[in-house]
Parts: sequence; structure tokens; C-alpha cells
Amino acid sequence: MSEEKGMNRRKALGSMGAVLAVAAISPAFAAENKQDEFDSKPLEDPTKKYPKPPFKKQSQPWPGLAGKMEPRPDHGETSYKGSGRLKGRKALITGGDSGMGRAAAIAYAREGADVAINYLPDEEADAIEVIKLIKAEGRVAVALPGDLRNEDFCRKLVADAVSALGGLDILVNNAARQQTRASILDISSEDFDATMKTNIYAPFWLIKAALPHLKPGSAIIGTSSVQAYDPSEDLVDYAQTKAATTSYIKSLAKQLGPKGIRVNGVAPGPIWTPLQVSGGATQEKLQQFGGKTPLGRPGQPAELASIYVQLAADDSSYATGQVYGSSGGEGNP
Ligand code: NAD
Ligand code: MG
Repeated sequence: MSEEKGMNRRKALGSMGAVLAVAAISPAFAAENKQDEFDSKPLEDPTKKYPKPPFKKQSQPWPGLAGKMEPRPDHGETSYKGSGRLKGRKALITGGDSGMGRAAAIAYAREGADVAINYLPDEEADAIEVIKLIKAEGRVAVALPGDLRNEDFCRKLVADAVSALGGLDILVNNAARQQTRASILDISSEDFDATMKTNIYAPFWLIKAALPHLKPGSAIIGTSSVQAYDPSEDLVDYAQTKAATTSYIKSLAKQLGPKGIRVNGVAPGPIWTPLQVSGGATQEKLQQFGGKTPLGRPGQPAELASIYVQLAADDSSYATGQVYGSSGGEGNP
């Protein structure tokens, strides 16, 4: 055995001794200190945790309100518990009034972040509830309504968020437009343009405006979709924007990695949100929504909140260019 190898072996044995010593005292220590902190929770069956199809027929004018859905989606209002993972962070979340954006906003505030949300003026009723929930955590809550299809507005949105929050560390590009069309012949140029502007141009404009403010350690998160990998026949325009989202996440991660800025994404499957009841799905699809997944039901926004937290938190520092899926057992990634 060479001297170097011998040293390494002695070091390893030495540290093993330390580990064994800790192991010998830790059970009693753990019992004393941990019992109150972690009450045991009963196992939850994911197939029974939330409503299953069939759902009632329901339709709202776009962009729809979570407050008018039946059943109401769960964004973690009463269930999400934070543990300081984003203490002191400053986040801007688009589409923060409802769905995944709202779940992320609630979770971020409970993890200690100040949060600005963007949404459309028609969604004020949903947004007010989110602002109240963020404030209830003692965090700064900033409501910045406006239409992301406009470049000037996107620039102003970032500037307003930076000045109200006193900086920016996390940008969540989550807003999107999804309208079902049976045939490509039914997609007008105005339609196509609105989907591209909301889903592709807005993140492009927002990231450009945000970049000068993002220091090493900051995070950009995009919401992609299973549609990026397995596009539906009636979502031709929307699905290609989600493939583009996954692509910019991966290219920007490479470009911004050396600057210490991480870029990641979330790819949800069928999730119970206003997007689906305001033209995103046909009534037939909606009534059976999520029923074909192995879990037999759609996901709720609350079930994805921890992914948005994880991708923003310092302890996922080696995750960049990743897209984390949550789709009840079907689709990719
Ligand atoms: P949602 O309707 O709750 O959120 C979408 C939000 O986009 C709206 O609340 C609205 O504020 C915002 N928005 C749309 N157009 C806008 C515009 N022009 N200007 C400003 N804001 C605008 O629905 P959701 O399902 O939570 O959607 C969030 C993200 O999740 C989207 O990127 C969507 O593509 C993605 N996604 C959803 C599902 C699903 O099944 N619900 C599946 C995969 C991916
Ligand atoms: Mg909404």
C-alpha cells in the first residue's frame, strides 16, 4: 500500500469512528429533541387525496377564475408549511393569481420570500386572495396586474418588481395561454399570435429585463408541460410553445451557468386550474380530466408547489437546465 493510500485509509477509518460515536449517542438525542418537531403523519393514498372525474361541465370566459371553479382547486392555502428555505429572497411570479403560480406564491411566502405577482386585470378577485395570504406570512406582497403580450409592459413589470421588492433573485415565468382548437384551420393568426406572445415572447422580454438584476445564486424557472413531449392533436399552437419553453430552459442554463444563475423548469401533466375551464380543454375532456393517468385524477396546484420551491432554493445548487415533471404517472419527462 502506498503512503498516500495508507493515509487515506487511516483518515477514512478515523472518520468512521466519529460516525459510529455519533450513531451511538444519536438515538436518545433524537428522541428527546425531534419528537415534538415532527409529529408523525398518516400515509396518504395519492389516488384518494383529491377529487376524481367525472367533473361537472363548466366553462368560464378566458382567463377564468379559480374562485369560480367546482371543485375549487387546492393551492396549498391551508396545507403548505414552510421551513425558511427561501428566507430573504425576492421573487416575481407571472400568473401568480391562480394555478401553479398561486401555489408557488403561497409556498415562497411561507418559505420566507417577498413576492410580486403579475396577472391580468380581469383576475383581480383571485389575485387579492393571494396578496392577503402572502401578507399573512409577514412578507412583502406586490400586485402588478397587466398584459404580458406587450413588450413595454414586460420591461415595466420587472422594473416595478425590482423597486417594490428591493431587488430580484427568482423569476418564475409561469403565465400562459391555452385554447383548444380541433383543427389547425380553426387557429386564426390572431389566436396564434396571442399564444406566441404570451408563452414565448413574454418570458424572452422578462428574462432580458431581469438579467441585469440577477446576481450569482439567482434562479429562473419556466413552466413547461407534458405537451412539450407528447403534444395533443387539439393544442397545436400551445404545444409548440411548451417545446420552446423546454428548449430555452436548456440553452439558457448553458449560457447563464458560468454566471451562477440557474435556469430550470417544471413540466406539469393535467392539473385542475382555470386554464382548463376557460377554453383550454373541451367539455368532454374536462369531465374526464386526469382520469387516464395511473393515479386516476388530475393533479392540484398544491402538489407542485414544493417543486417550484426546490428549484429556487440554494440546496438544489447543482440543478440547472433540468425540467422536473409532475404528471400523475403518464407522459414525459
Ligand atoms: P392558470 O390559468 O391558473 O394560470 C395561467 C395564468 O396565465 C393566468 O392566471 C393569467 O394570470 C396568466 N396569463 C395568461 N395570459 C396572460 C397575459 N396576456 N398577461 C398576463 N398574464 C397572463 O393555469 P395554470 O394551469 O396554473 O397555468 C400555469 C402554467 O402551467 C402555464 O404555463 C401552463 O401552460 C402550465 N401548464 C398547465 C397545465 C394544466 O393542466 N393546468 C399542464 C401543463 C402545463
Ligand atoms: Mg388566473
